[in-house]
Amino acid sequence: MNAKGIAVLGSTGSIGRNTLRVVETLGEQFRVVALGAGRNVDELVEQIDRHRPELVAVQSDECSEELLRRLRRREIAFPRVAVGEAGLIEVATHERAACVVSATVGAVGFVPTLRALETGKRVALANKETLVMAGELMTRAAHTSGAEILPVDSEHNAIHQCLRGETRAEVQRLILTASGGPFRTQDESAMQRATVAEAMRHPTWSMGAKVTIDSATLMNKGLEVIEAHWLFGFDADQIDVIVHPESVVHSMVELIDGSVIAQMGVTDMCHAIQYALTYPKRQGNALPPLDLTGFGALHFEAPDLARFPCLGLAYRALRTGGTLPTAMNAANEVAVNAFIDGRIRLTDIPHIIERVMDRHPVRPVDSLGVVLDTDEAARIAALTAIDALIEVSPINIGDFSYLGR
Ligand code: MG
Repeated sequence: MNAKGIAVLGSTGSIGRNTLRVVETLGEQFRVVALGAGRNVDELVEQIDRHRPELVAVQSDECSEELLRRLRRREIAFPRVAVGEAGLIEVATHERAACVVSATVGAVGFVPTLRALETGKRVALANKETLVMAGELMTRAAHTSGAEILPVDSEHNAIHQCLRGETRAEVQRLILTASGGPFRTQDESAMQRATVAEAMRHPTWSMGAKVTIDSATLMNKGLEVIEAHWLFGFDADQIDVIVHPESVVHSMVELIDGSVIAQMGVTDMCHAIQYALTYPKRQGNALPPLDLTGFGALHFEAPDLARFPCLGLAYRALRTGGTLPTAMNAANEVAVNAFIDGRIRLTDIPHIIERVMDRHPVRPVDSLGVVLDTDEAARIAALTAIDALIEVSPINIGDFSYLGR
C-alpha cells in the first residue's frame, strides 16, 4: 500500500505529539515525511528516531546547530534541517505530504498553513489563530486549489461530524460548547488575583499554555466562534456558545425542524486528530470509550459575558469583520504572554484587547500584506497599552504577590 505522507507543523507541542501517537496507531497507511518544531531539540531528536522524516524545521540557527550536532553522533541517515518560517513553509509544502497538520501556537503557523492550502494539501487544522487572522484568505486559497480543511479543534471537529449528511439550508445554528474554564464559578475578585498556575488548571482538557489561558478568559471560545464562521459559513447570529462543564458534548448543530444533533466523546484530542487524518473513513482504535454512567448528569448554562468580556469582544470583531479579528487576535496573544510573564493580571487581558480594537482602523482583508501589517501594528499597540497600564496601575508595580511566585 502507498502510505500517505504527513507533515506536522508544531510537532513537539501538545497536538503535534498526539498526532505522532495517532499516526503510530494507524499503522502503515500513514508516514511522517516532515516535522516543524520550535526549540525543543530533545523531543525532536526522539521524534526523528521514531519516524525518520525526510525534512525537519527548527526555530533558529542555534537550534539547527544543536540538532545537527546530536544527529551526527548517530550512525543513521538523518533528515535535512531547515530553519525559521522558511523552514516551516518547506515542511508545509513538502512534495510527499498529502496532509499537513497545522498545530503551531499563535501566528507563527499562519503563512506556512496558507502555503499548504495553496498547494492543495489537506490541512488538519488545530491552529485556530490562522483562521481568525485571515479566514478570508485561507478559505479562498482552499477553494482555489481544492484543498480541504479538516478541523482538529474538538468543537469544530464535532460540528463537522454533526453536519455529515445535512445541507447548509437545513441548519438553523451551530452551538459551540465551552467548559467554562477554571474560573467558571469564581467571582471577579478571585479572577483579578488569579495566578498563572490557577489559570493553567483547565477542568477537562490538557492543552498548551496559550490555549489554556485563552480558555480561562473565554477568548478561546471567542476565537472558536470566528473559526466556526470561516469553516462552516454561518454568521455570528447563527453561532451560539453554551457552557457545559463536563465537556462530554463537544458541540451541537440545531436543524430547521428543531432537531439538535450533538457529538459526544471522551476529552482526548486523539479522536479529532484521527478523524481529520482518516476522513471520510472511520477506523477503530484503542482509545478508552465514553462512559456516560460515570458522569450521571450533564450540565448546561449560558456564558457570563460580564465576567468574561473576551467572548463579547470576539463577537464584535466577527460582526465588524475586515482586519478587526486580526488585530484582536494579535492583541490577545501579546496580552496572554504578558500575563504568563507576570506583567499584567488575568482580568487586564480583555482591557488591553479592547483598547487595541477601539483604536484599530479597520480595513478589508484583501492581501497577505494587510494581514501581516495589521498583526504587527496591533502587537505594538498592545505592548504600548500594557506599558501604559503598568504605569498607571500601582498594583502592577512590584506587587507580583498575586502571581504566587
Ligand atoms: Mg476547542
